[in-house]
Amino acid sequence: MPITATHIAYYHVCHRKVWLFHHGIQMEHTSELVAEGKLIDEHSYPQRAAKWQQLELPGIKIDYFDPKTFTLREVKKSNKKEAAHLAQVKYYMYILRQHDIPVKKTILEYPKLRITEEVAWEDVDEESVETWVNAVHEIIEELKCPPRINKPICKKCAYYEFYYAEESAP
Ligand code: SF4
Repeated sequence: MPITATHIAYYHVCHRKVWLFHHGIQMEHTSELVAEGKLIDEHSYPQRAAKWQQLELPGIKIDYFDPKTFTLREVKKSNKKEAAHLAQVKYYMYILRQHDIPVKKTILEYPKLRITEEVAWEDVDEESVETWVNAVHEIIEELKCPPRINKPICKKCAYYEFYYAEESAP
């Protein structure tokens, strides 16, 4: 599996999550939160301007790209802003720029918070993203899964139920 925006987002949450995801243990598709997020995406902005196009490149799938202004749009279901969201959109912009698409900014929307913010691409971002990518490679190349972080965020993580099932097993 190539490095994807999901790896980069998870890297900013938990290294164990990166490793599990990369090694094919993917729980997010069963998560109610993901389903809820999709609903928000579909119903909060029903009348998207025609300017937004879908774009897919290795490791990233972007729902809203404006080729005239080289702007991305990303909608987050979350009821709080997270570093992982910022990292994810920086990664999107990095990959686009690697493909000679000079994206300049991403409009990051939080419908639940009624917040919209602009995330600009900065020159220093290239080095940051490459650092994250290298770190992700180091994590996934480890033979052993990184330890649990045991933080409050774990209770909202799709892998939490997976552990529970694992520990309940005979
Ligand atoms: S439950 Fe916690 S330790 Fe496990 S993958 Fe999720 S965030 Fe990481």
